Formats: sequence, C-alpha cells, structure tokens
Amino acid sequence: MSGEEVSAQERQVLDWLAAQGNAMQALLAQLVNIDSGTYNKAGVDRVGEAICAFLDSHGVGFDVILNGTFGNAIRATVGTPGDRNILLMGHRDTVFPDGEAQRRPFTSDGARGYGPGCADMKAGLVMNSFVATALKRFSGAPAPVVALYTADEEIGSPLSRALIEAEARRACLVLNAEPGRPADAVVTGRKAGIFIRFEVTGKAAHAGANFEQGASAIGEIAHKIVALHALTDLPKGITINVGIVGGGQTVNTVAPSARGEMDLRYIDPADRDATLKKVEAIMAQATIPGTSATFEIYAEFLPLVQSADSKRLFDLYAGCAAVLGHTITGLFTGGCSDAGFSASVGAPTVCAVGPIGSRAHSPDEYVELGTIVPRAQILALTIMRSGERIS
Ligand SMILES: [Zn+2]
Repeated sequence: MSGEEVSAQERQVLDWLAAQGNAMQALLAQLVNIDSGTYNKAGVDRVGEAICAFLDSHGVGFDVILNGTFGNAIRATVGTPGDRNILLMGHRDTVFPDGEAQRRPFTSDGARGYGPGCADMKAGLVMNSFVATALKRFSGAPAPVVALYTADEEIGSPLSRALIEAEARRACLVLNAEPGRPADAVVTGRKAGIFIRFEVTGKAAHAGANFEQGASAIGEIAHKIVALHALTDLPKGITINVGIVGGGQTVNTVAPSARGEMDLRYIDPADRDATLKKVEAIMAQATIPGTSATFEIYAEFLPLVQSADSKRLFDLYAGCAAVLGHTITGLFTGGCSDAGFSASVGAPTVCAVGPIGSRAHSPDEYVELGTIVPRAQILALTIMRSGERIS
C-alpha cells in the first residue's frame, strides 16, 4: 500500500481491519461449526444469533425479519437507511446436511480453512460484519450501509427475493460477498437458472396380457427429455439439463407415471420467456397418445448482466484493489446467485467480492485465510470511495 494514496481516515479503517485477522478467523470457525443447511431453520438462526451478537458487541444496529419456514433474515445498518444506500449481501444457509459440522468442523492448515460453508459463504459474512463494524467505528461510509444476512439462497431465495429486490431498489451499489475466485477474480456476469419439476401421466396396463391398453409415461418422458435437451443453444448460453428422472411401477406394468426435474440456464433476459414457451409446448405435445404432462417452476434465479453502472462499480472496486496492491479481474460464470436479483432491478452490482475460496458444495471446500483481511480492506475502501457515485 502506498501511503500517499490513502487518506488518514481510510488508513484508520484499513489498519483496524488489518489487525482483525485472528478475530475474523475465530468468528469464521464459530459460524462454520454451526450446521445451517437451508431446511435447518434452527441452525440458520443460530448462525444469525452469532452474527447479531458480534454486531451488537460492536455497536452495529440490526433488525430481524422473522420467517416461519426458513431462517430469519437479518438487516444490519450503519447510518439511517434512505433511498440511496450501499447494500452488502450474504446468505447464511449451506447445502450441507445436519451433522456435517460435527463430522467436519472448521480446520486450518495455516493457509487454508476448511469446513462446511467456509467459503460459500461464511467467510463473506464475517468479512461484511467486520467491514460494517469498521465503517461504523471510524464513520467511514459516505452513505448509509445496509448488510443483509439471508437464509435461503441455496434453494433460490424463495423467501428472501422480495427483501433483496426491495433493498436493491433503494441501493446505489450492491456488493455480494459470495466467495472470490482464485487468481483474484470477482464475478461480473452470471447465468440465470430455473429449476422445473415435471410429471407425465400415462395409463397402467399388464405388459403381457393387455399391452395395447396402456399408455407408457416412461416412453413419453423419454421423448420429452430428448426434445428438452434439444433446446440447448450453447452459442447463446442456453442449456437444459434433465438432472433427475424416475417413474414406473413394476417391470411388467406399462408405466402409469414418470417425473423429472430440469435445470434451464440462460444469459439474455429475452431468452427466458421464449425458452419457457418451448418447454410448455413440449409438455403439451403428447407423442404417445393417452399421456399428459404438467410442469412447475420451483426455483428461479435471474441473470447478472453487467450494466454500464455495474461496470463502473467494478472499475471502482478494481481501482481500490490496485491501490492496495491487488490486480482484480472480473469473470463470467454459469452459476447463479442473489446478485441476479439486485442486478435485475437495476442496481449496480458486483458479485463474489468475498474472501477467495473454491470447491463449494463439496467436502474439499476451502477458503484462502490470507485473503480475508485483504478482501475486507478492498471492500471497505470501495465503499469509502463510492461517494461520487452517490451524490
Ligand atoms: Zn453462496
């Protein structure tokens, strides 16, 4: 860091964050050691209580938005939110089953930290909490800061989406603390993802005695799967993957039912409705007479499309990183996140500004411990220098 490029107030914040490495790692270990799979409301709420206790002990205000099904949402604030806030986002849920934290508690080999959700995205939650604290402590934020800690991202944020969109509509910039990517990357573009469940109904019959009276749902779903996969258009970034399929009753029964689940991805918002119309047509068309089908969308993420304002935010972030000695690149990924919701309501958004990690959703998940402080510093400096974006 070259001293002359950083103001005295900025230096206070950066230096304070630099001194918090051990405290950050301690909070990370505490959060990782609490099971918080999306459907474990009690666990997701325990992670929330640990965060609230931390915020409380540092004088950062917050409110809890109760949820009966999934974990409660937490909204921490620095300053009094208005209609031009700085929005930090993060989710507390993981994809791991109950007992995982006990089987595989937080460990560190000095360079990397391991444990369920360490990178995706408990390290990001830790980072946001310390940055909010630093901004509060040294009055560093040029606008009110809102930090969301949501509870259901791993299943498409069915209950957090409205809250995220409402906060994003009154945000002048949004930074989502999903794990940073190796080689100092953040994410500037993401595909959209739609999860669809479908069911085919046929007619049962004895496969030997009255074969011709049956209508095979399995035969029909096979036609549909081939037709669905044919909607894939790689140059346009549209993919369809039927990832789950099942059906039938016994080997000697013409199958009365079959079901599947598909993952539909796209990049261009215009491709959403057009592709769904084709899915609808495939479901409506019965190649095997006597069969019918229904389908329903059960989870949906919107795409992160880089707007001109989002590009400016990325440039600001990369510029602040450069001041601190880091060369940040922006990359596109087919994976989805809550950043698609904020970007889709028009809020300038950059994703994956969290500490760097990889192998999310697997037992090999890790976070680079040495990136927690630097990523917190880059985030804090970006916020402190975002003033001209807000005026
Ligand atoms: Zn995540």
